Amino acid sequence: MNSCYSMLDKLGNAIKKGIDRLSKAIFVDKKMIDEVVKELQRALIESDVNIKLVKEISDKIRKAAENEKIKGIEKREQIIKILHDELVEILGKEKAEFKFKKGKKYKIMLLGLYGSGKTTTTSKLSNYYNKRGFKTAILGLDVHRPAAREQLEQLGKQNKLKVFIDKKEKDPIKTYKKFKKDLDKHDVVFIDTAGRHNLDKELVAEIKKLKKEIKPDYVMLVTPADIGQAAKNQASEFQKACNIDGVIVTRMDSTARGGGALTACNETKANVFFITTGEKVNDIEEFNPSNFVSRILGMGDLETLIEKVRSVADEKSIKSIKEGKFTMNEMKDQLGAMGKMGSFSKILDMIPGLGGLMGGKKPKIPKEMIEQQGAKTKKWAHIIDSMTPTERESPEIIEKQNTRIQRIAKGAGTTATEVRALLKQFKIMKDFIKTQSKGLTEKDMMKLAKKYGKKMKFKGR
Ligand code: GDP
Ligand code: MG
Repeated sequence: MNSCYSMLDKLGNAIKKGIDRLSKAIFVDKKMIDEVVKELQRALIESDVNIKLVKEISDKIRKAAENEKIKGIEKREQIIKILHDELVEILGKEKAEFKFKKGKKYKIMLLGLYGSGKTTTTSKLSNYYNKRGFKTAILGLDVHRPAAREQLEQLGKQNKLKVFIDKKEKDPIKTYKKFKKDLDKHDVVFIDTAGRHNLDKELVAEIKKLKKEIKPDYVMLVTPADIGQAAKNQASEFQKACNIDGVIVTRMDSTARGGGALTACNETKANVFFITTGEKVNDIEEFNPSNFVSRILGMGDLETLIEKVRSVADEKSIKSIKEGKFTMNEMKDQLGAMGKMGSFSKILDMIPGLGGLMGGKKPKIPKEMIEQQGAKTKKWAHIIDSMTPTERESPEIIEKQNTRIQRIAKGAGTTATEVRALLKQFKIMKDFIKTQSKGLTEKDMMKLAKKYGKKMKFKGR
């Protein structure tokens, strides 16, 4: 799981705990609502969300909680929906991004104070777009600190990125002119600039000069998440002085105040394009407010799911699976576990983004197909029972021999097609279990769900 969500873990958990309390209670009285709302407020404030916004959000929640017409699960969904919408509202309704057209050339200039993450971020962005088919380059214009250019050189080497630097040149404009011709051969050029301790006259003057000469398509402010709500002042100062197009919030992984930084940026109308979540070159992602919130609100559910899988499956079988062993014996145990958990569709409902609850995407897999799966688990258990111990240990041998398939089908009172379906499913589950024992990420689940859906369709014919 991406570590940047751990910073909002507390918020997500507090939210879910509160909502659960409200939805499970038979009598929701005012005292209880007060307590839950207070808990939510505390969590929001700890994430450094502006007090005024916290009050607005909690007023809406209180209203929904006090509404006696909505009960139980509906209430839970209603409140989650309110929270989702409110949080998206304060994070920025629309996703902001670079609008790159194929065949055109772009220059992106990164600004920011000392240590905000400019240099690291230029390499992350260059790598990000490189991987997506753009020919990218980095131009190092932090001429004030000698180490800055070496840092870029290193990052370039480590990650195979094209970097243009002139270690001796003291004038950034001259450096730019020197490389201009080469730079123009690239689709996107990311420009690293010098920082200061604060946005002083010198820095503003230098940025203005650079902007005039280079004419970047996007000027981005790089700001660290740990300054929390102070990001608002910083963004608006840079906005006024240098006319920035957007913000990149770094170090989301290392602070609990990221919520404040993100909401603060939205208040200045300086949209957050990217967030970075670690020191490695891949620790960057496009910032999509709606997905971001769904993940905060949904993450606990995903954890619950994993916990659930763990709690119903046999310890011994989990142990062997973890050690890389997965045979028909383990599969039977897993099928039993799934039966105990209820239908697979319930499990899918718990996966953020799939449940539809968050106003996100609806499940891509037809419900009937998933439902069928439940009935099949019983049949499959019979099939496994009809296998010899050797067949259970190495199911590959069944596939190769039609007589084995026929014998097993007969023993289980079913068809050869059904036995083949089980063998196919075995392979899918093997993949599933492998990822599960490592700890599932949301991406894994999505991938899995997709794969699962496709194979089911094939089998259903
Ligand atoms: P600059 O002075 O603005 O160029 O900042 P740097 O790019 O040199 O980054 C300053 C420090 O922050 C470096 O040690 C980076 O490794 C670190 N850093 C940058 N982005 C992140 C991030 O997203 N997460 C973490 N944990 N560290 C980061
Ligand atoms: Mg730097």
